[in-house]
Amino acid sequence: MSSKIKFLKPGDDDIYTEDRSDVDQTSGTSFIYNPHRSLALDKQRQRLPVFLSRNHILHLIETHQTTIIIGETGSGKSTQIPQYLREAGWCADGTICVCEPRRVACTTLAARVAEEADVILGKEVGYAVRFDDRSTPGVTQIKFVTEGLLVREMMGDPLLRQYCAVILDEAHERTLYTDIVLGLLKKVLRRRKDLRLVVCSATVDADHLFNFFNRNTTSDHTKDTATIIPVEGRNYPVEVFYLEEAAPNYIKSSAETVMKIHLKEGAGDVLVFLTGAEEVDACVSLIKEHVSSLPKTQGSVLVVGMHGSLSNADQLRAFQTPPVGVRKVVVATNIAETSITIPGIVYVVDSGFVKMRWYNADSCTESLVVVPTSRASATQRAGRAGRVRAGKVYRLYPEAEYEKLSEVSPPEMMRTSLSSAVLCLMALGIENMLRFDFPSPPPARHLTAALDELFALAAITEEGKLSQPLGQHMAEFPLMPHLAKMLLVSGEYGCSEEILSIVAMLQVQNVFKQPRGQNRHARIMHRKFEVSEGDLITLLNVYMGYIKHGSSRQWCVDNCIGHRAMARAAEIRARMEKLLIKFEVPIKSSEGGVDAVCRCITMGLFPNAAYLHPAGHYSTVRGRQTLHIHPSSVLYTQKQPQWVLFHEVLHTSKIYMRDLTVIDPAWLLELAPHFYEKTTIHNV
Ligand code: ADP
Ligand code: MG
Repeated sequence: MSSKIKFLKPGDDDIYTEDRSDVDQTSGTSFIYNPHRSLALDKQRQRLPVFLSRNHILHLIETHQTTIIIGETGSGKSTQIPQYLREAGWCADGTICVCEPRRVACTTLAARVAEEADVILGKEVGYAVRFDDRSTPGVTQIKFVTEGLLVREMMGDPLLRQYCAVILDEAHERTLYTDIVLGLLKKVLRRRKDLRLVVCSATVDADHLFNFFNRNTTSDHTKDTATIIPVEGRNYPVEVFYLEEAAPNYIKSSAETVMKIHLKEGAGDVLVFLTGAEEVDACVSLIKEHVSSLPKTQGSVLVVGMHGSLSNADQLRAFQTPPVGVRKVVVATNIAETSITIPGIVYVVDSGFVKMRWYNADSCTESLVVVPTSRASATQRAGRAGRVRAGKVYRLYPEAEYEKLSEVSPPEMMRTSLSSAVLCLMALGIENMLRFDFPSPPPARHLTAALDELFALAAITEEGKLSQPLGQHMAEFPLMPHLAKMLLVSGEYGCSEEILSIVAMLQVQNVFKQPRGQNRHARIMHRKFEVSEGDLITLLNVYMGYIKHGSSRQWCVDNCIGHRAMARAAEIRARMEKLLIKFEVPIKSSEGGVDAVCRCITMGLFPNAAYLHPAGHYSTVRGRQTLHIHPSSVLYTQKQPQWVLFHEVLHTSKIYMRDLTVIDPAWLLELAPHFYEKTTIHNV
């Protein structure tokens, strides 16, 4: 294998060698991945660190409204605490809700807990995530839900009467919805003294949360309604390796490092951290290619990808135990950092990057930016290698870079567009955002920008109230407000069939496949769908082709289209159609008319308009942000259109717009007069 990569061992300040009194000295020659794996499930459960605190935790929950549990990833918080509550009889008073930042965590944890509790998934233990509900009202005792779903449940049940306890998991992630749920639950707890909140965090800086829940009470700590309990973690030392020089291409470098580990290191599974689904897929293919050229004597490797846009069945593949003698390599996005625990990992390859949302209040655009991780993230990722025995982490950057990383990332609330959050809060009756008790108040400018945008989308009235029924329905749609708006007005434009397909296609990734060695062929096949109106209409063409050919897998293969992505899009489309029918939106087709579809798209995406600047790049009307057409866009190779609307902005080497639609600027004035003035459009 390539000897290009030379890892350097760091000096004395190896962060993992200090204070490890519980180091397992048996590692070295005989490798045991999961010493508990052969044990019965109940014995495995008893080996987890939280088990030692089981009674203490139950006592604290009994006596405090809010209990904050701090424990390292893998200590058993997510899988055990709901079961402890269930075993202690809490379900007599309602369901136990476990609230997760991510869909993947909901589905995999629910499957695991159902297995441990020996019940059928979907019955006593279930989950509900966007577009997928596997729970049975009246039967489900433990229900895993995403944060966004919990907020939407509150629109129908503001005091969460169906639940006896809410476990807010992964609170350290501080996603936008973590903070919203924290703020809302604080209000609910005041009204419902019987409700219990358990906050789980993998990091120790829980004082902030402790103070948040005890704020407004007295300085007398005997009256505290919240308490903190740390759970002892069990972690083995992890040796850290750095690159001598930064890797020019971290995907390639990750694949090479995996091969190096496979050939040079002892048994043990490998976990690779990249930033997104596309990178994961590319890296999986690269590793498979390397592996296929290995002689049989070099052992076999099972390579699996793990990211949020995989189907549930595919996500579960990452958890399967490889056959004896086979090394498993899991290539994952950030979801494997703390949300899920993949058993058997001994080696971690850390690209050093993460994809984050970043908001620009001038241009009202939110971009996905690939940025260096924080030191806290790097430590978390490294820790994944030390779960079963002493492990190793390979950071694909020089040690000097590590020192320059920021300590933690700012909470999402501070750096994303607030329009969907504000819309949800308004639907919950919170009208004065500035007075809402946020754990970390967002910048006032971001709040105003969100209100402006919602007003322009007609979700709120001039009096600053949620419009009825449009605003209310937009809030209930589990989509960004722009897309919800597009769907809700699609009946008026006579093209709801088309908009449903387009929005469903925007929810999935990897529609266009580039099978190795067939790039040219794939380009030719994909070109058949391409139209000068842009990517959204192209996606519509793909979806229509798929349906016309009976949702056939063979048709997908022949056209280099991802079959799984299409099946998922069809599933999502069916759910959204139900919602539209519920909201009495007529389901109509434009019967091939594109103009109506493009106008309807404009009704939702108008804030994301950009025009061609004489200098050759694009510029947003508001804020004059410079943008470029992403190479994946069908417009990339065509004559540059004067005006486009984008669905997403991606910030890599340049700021790219993705998922484009070509428009007539006159539509902006006609359809969004609150947002665009004549002078701004004509003067560009
Ligand atoms: P925490 O929430 O503290 O990070 P979890 O409760 O998620 O910990 O996991 C505890 C342990 O349960 C893990 O270390 C792992 O051994 C096991 N486990 C969790 N999920 C699964 C799964 N889907 N398959 C197999 N084992 C799992
Ligand atoms: Mg957990």
